[in-house]
Amino acid sequence: MATRRRSFWGWGWEDAALAPDQQAALAAALSARFGRDVTAAPPPRLEDLAMPPPRLDPPASLAPICSQRPYDRASHTYGKGYRDVVRGFRGEFGHPPDVVAFPAAEADVAAVLDWCSSAGAAAVPYGGGSSVVGGVEFTGDGYAGVVSVDTSRLATVLEIDRTSRAARIQAGIYGPALEDDLRPHGLTLRHFPQSFEFSTLGGWLATRSGGHYATNTTHIDDFVESLKVVTPSGVCESRRLPGSGAGPSPDRMFLGSEGTLGIITEAWLRLQDRPRWRASAGVRFQSFESGVEAARAVAQAGLYPANCRLLDAGEAATSAGVGDGSALLVLGFESADHAVEAWMARGLECCADHGGAVPEGVRSTVPARDEDKGGQGGGAVDTWRRCRWP
Ligand SMILES: Cc1cc2nc3c(=O)[nH]c(=O)nc-3n(C[C@H](O)[C@H](O)[C@H](O)COP(=O)(O)OP(=O)(O)OC[C@H]3O[C@@H](n4cnc5c(N)ncnc54)[C@H](O)[C@@H]3O)c2cc1C
Repeated sequence: MATRRRSFWGWGWEDAALAPDQQAALAAALSARFGRDVTAAPPPRLEDLAMPPPRLDPPASLAPICSQRPYDRASHTYGKGYRDVVRGFRGEFGHPPDVVAFPAAEADVAAVLDWCSSAGAAAVPYGGGSSVVGGVEFTGDGYAGVVSVDTSRLATVLEIDRTSRAARIQAGIYGPALEDDLRPHGLTLRHFPQSFEFSTLGGWLATRSGGHYATNTTHIDDFVESLKVVTPSGVCESRRLPGSGAGPSPDRMFLGSEGTLGIITEAWLRLQDRPRWRASAGVRFQSFESGVEAARAVAQAGLYPANCRLLDAGEAATSAGVGDGSALLVLGFESADHAVEAWMARGLECCADHGGAVPEGVRSTVPARDEDKGGQGGGAVDTWRRCRWP
């Protein structure tokens, strides 16, 4: 079976790139939208890249887990911010890592960091490479070379504690694989940053990522029970406790550390039962400001909606098909434990107080099939949801 490969310069899979006719259609749509003549340029080809030769080679003991192939060096050069994609699209790969290491065990991570220390090389942790702040790119001076440490082979759910609803999970696991592994247990991490498909648990922890369940528990921090981190001077593992007020929190030090203190190899995380009851509604407002007032009222009512996302008129038109110039509040509730109509009814009252209307009604799934996340219908909320993952 052919293995899918990700684009070395942009977002997504190589085999899912826009076909020439789709590129032409997109260029025509952008031309019409911006009143400028937009034409599609061909994407870069790996064989045309002028990358400098590697400045250092891995020792023989690490060679089996290291790569200097052009594809690996190019695809680990940048994150996925706008300027990264533009530079990648232009074929600018003047500062790729010299070596890409793919550790398959914690001992490999320690060995790679030991080698980097002795060789004077910079080690840059790499999860899914979806950083938008230059976090996986290294351009500093004073090092013998740069080693990108790709954690994607550390991708296993190691242990599940069903009673306490928690799991010990390796940091290199990507979002979809993590949820696939938890699903048979009826559990979910329920952390869905928009980059979910191509980002990893370790990256979420190192950047303090926020999911799109943007009320109540939303940051990855909220789910952490303990961390294990391989640093250049040893392994640091925090204790798994239900809660602690004893002194400074070591986890807090590593959360958001952007790979500067070490490589997170695994974590114990709090999980949730998979939701069974869901209700969603698209609430329209004549002005964005009244939508803001309503969203604030819902948030301050302590209803904790699973979704409370306000789209301005432009986004409502492009991603939810709302053509009447309204702002759209996507309001959703879900629970593994109870029906959610009462919460939705109160949320809609808060919205009505600020002029919110619900022309397409409430969509309820009672109880929802596990895989029914909405998105199948023809309403504005379903249209918006189809643009997103998961
Ligand atoms: C289209 C798009 C949508 C996005 N949506 C969101 C969103 O909804 N919410 C949000 O918060 N962010 C979002 N981001 C930003 C990005 O996806 C997040 O920062 C994500 O957490 C990065 O995860 P990653 O696995 O891709 O990490 P990477 O990009 O590989 O790395 C990010 C940083 O963490 C370090 N790092 C990675 N893995 C480890 C590890 N195991 N140990 C130590 N350090 C490590 C890296 O060195 C780097 O500094 C989005 C980005 C894009 C391109």
